[in-house]
Amino acid sequence: MADCLFCKIVEGIIPSQKVYEDDFVLAFKDIAPQAPTHILVIPKTHISGAADITPENSAVVARCFEVIAQLGKDIEGGFRVVSNCGGNAGQTVPHLHFHVLGGAPLNLTMA
Ligand code: 5GP
Ligand code: ZN
Repeated sequence: MADCLFCKIVEGIIPSQKVYEDDFVLAFKDIAPQAPTHILVIPKTHISGAADITPENSAVVARCFEVIAQLGKDIEGGFRVVSNCGGNAGQTVPHLHFHVLGGAPLNLTMA
């Protein structure tokens, strides 16, 4: 999608520190980490946010969580998954993404 930051990261127009990639899902380090481990897991297709998940596009959301499960195996002590949706939740990038946070005890406001 034109003018979507994370679509540009998927396309490689904007660089990112990738930690996982397949045909459907990309995972990369957050540019402003809120925890020692802070990874963003996104579908490569543009979905604006959690409110736009439908029966037609939800397969890639399941794939995102399969990737999260794999990445989580390397995060000692557990991890948190967060998806902000809309302004009140603090969503700043309107492309569905899952924050994966860990590496230290987390407070309730992280991501
Ligand atoms: P949101 O606020 O929408 O829940 O999360 C957006 C996240 O994207 C923020 O944690 C922010 O630090 C991250 N972010 C914004 N721009 C970039 C970027 O250009 N590269 C990377 N790797 N992360 C970004
Ligand atoms: Zn997008």
